[in-house]
Amino acid sequence: MDNTNLVKKPLNIVWLKRDLRSQDHASFEAAENSQIPYLSIFIFEPSIISYADTSLRHLQFQYHSLLELNVEFKNNNKCIFLFQAEAIDVFNLLHQQFDIQNVFSYQESGIQLTYERDILLNQFFKNNSIDWIQYQRDGIIRKLKNRNDWDKKWFETMHQPMIQNNYKYQAAITFQNPYEIQKDFVDQLTVYPMQMQPAGEKYAYQYLQSFLQTRGYNYSKHISKPFLSRTSCARISPYLAWGNLSIRQVYQHTLVATKDIKFKRPFQNFLSRLHWHCHFIQKFEMECRYEKECINRGYEFIEREEQNDLIDAWENGNTGVPLVDACMKCLHTTGWINFRMRALIVSFLTHHLFQDWRKGVYFLAQQFLDYEPGIHYPQFQMQAGTTGINMIRVYNSIKNSLEHDEQALFIKKWLPQLANLPLSFIHQPWLMTSMDERLYNFKLGLDYPKPIIDLENDLRTNTDKLWAMRKNETVIAENKRMIATHTRKTSKSLSPKKKTKAVQNKNIQTLF
Ligand SMILES: Cc1cc2nc3c(=O)[nH]c(=O)nc-3n(C[C@H](O)[C@H](O)[C@H](O)COP(=O)(O)OP(=O)(O)OC[C@H]3O[C@@H](n4cnc5c(N)ncnc54)[C@H](O)[C@@H]3O)c2cc1C
Repeated sequence: MDNTNLVKKPLNIVWLKRDLRSQDHASFEAAENSQIPYLSIFIFEPSIISYADTSLRHLQFQYHSLLELNVEFKNNNKCIFLFQAEAIDVFNLLHQQFDIQNVFSYQESGIQLTYERDILLNQFFKNNSIDWIQYQRDGIIRKLKNRNDWDKKWFETMHQPMIQNNYKYQAAITFQNPYEIQKDFVDQLTVYPMQMQPAGEKYAYQYLQSFLQTRGYNYSKHISKPFLSRTSCARISPYLAWGNLSIRQVYQHTLVATKDIKFKRPFQNFLSRLHWHCHFIQKFEMECRYEKECINRGYEFIEREEQNDLIDAWENGNTGVPLVDACMKCLHTTGWINFRMRALIVSFLTHHLFQDWRKGVYFLAQQFLDYEPGIHYPQFQMQAGTTGINMIRVYNSIKNSLEHDEQALFIKKWLPQLANLPLSFIHQPWLMTSMDERLYNFKLGLDYPKPIIDLENDLRTNTDKLWAMRKNETVIAENKRMIATHTRKTSKSLSPKKKTKAVQNKNIQTLF
């Protein structure tokens, strides 16, 4: 028998992950209602920090969210302890000092790395008789076999009352933390760029409220516009990704706002996107291999020539295609672009430059302040055309530029070297003659790059190769498997056999 347990004080632990908020929080509720004191912890894990999908902006967002929570918790003499170590080492240490009864956390629909970490911890908790209670996040269901009842359950979760957390029941715990975050790391975390969205629960509410009260009026009208969407979209994605807000909070606040007739239509549109958010994460929860493998394994057979110079130009916003480059410059600085522009830059990488989607997926994960694995990988592959069961969507950069950035406001902001050209040339500077260049004191190739590919010819060849894959045997077999797992069966649905046929005929609107 382990005698050390006799002297160790009983303790619960709240382990924060992507749930950095104080309200509608199941773990805090359980800990406050327990008979045992608790310690709240957040762990900056070196293996995650150094992984390809993580960037400093993500860590800064987490850190500033935690600082804000600690200001609030101070009123109740509490705090969240920050660790810089592997999770297993942190729990080992806590186990040596305390008699840990329960660990409360939210389920994480993460990448392979965090999944494996959780398997390791699960074993550790079992060996040491610690109960790990993991709450469902935003209606995502663990160990789901198919999607038949998923929608119904999701709506039930959204309509359950929000948790009103209270932090007065439990006393504070003192603890000497040997894994405190190191000074040089704190220095990096502290300097948070002004052009990124501010982190934390308070700002999350401000963004949500301003959207629901005024900004959302033009939501549907401006959603595809790179410039106007910055104001008319909700811009709550980083707050959802790092859990400053729960989906249920947003859903219920939006339902109230929808009662105002002038917001009815845009907010119906918005509510369906909250549903998509969880729909995509559910998909990833069921198959986190999407981080590394094609959703439809048949697309592994497609041959592409890796060209690092093209990838470099894409990453750095030097492709010579203004809308694509403006998107990249904007992302570098602000961490956000709208849905259509995300799809467009992925389409440019995978269809125009014909590079493997894995050559850009981590780069964009790092750029997106709202990086959410469960949305990012399925969306990336959907736009890259590797799901097999979706229409292949190729975004024409010039058409999108002319239609969605009509006045070139977005391009002018992020590519100031084009700002003095007339509108007709800003979208396509290669159309200028040498006389035009002299007139506007501009030299293509010097002031701004020439396009790095032949926009029309290369695209035609590449999409032909993609379409040809639809007849590949593995692609067809994989489609059948995916339809059985990821699409819902309703009374109106086609039989699986008919569904597969319809997919092959390219005329089905699927859930992807
Ligand atoms: C290649 C690619 C990668 C993406 N990666 C991410 C990601 O890592 N994290 C992320 O949150 N979104 C991602 N998206 C989806 C979408 O672009 C963002 O959710 C949206 O732009 C966020 O801005 P917003 O909060 O103003 O959205 P709004 O349009 O105001 O929508 C509100 C919320 O609904 C959800 N939502 C909106 N559109 C989608 C969508 N198409 N799919 C799933 N959920 C959606 C988001 O949670 C969003 O915050 C990606 C899209 C693409 C094409």
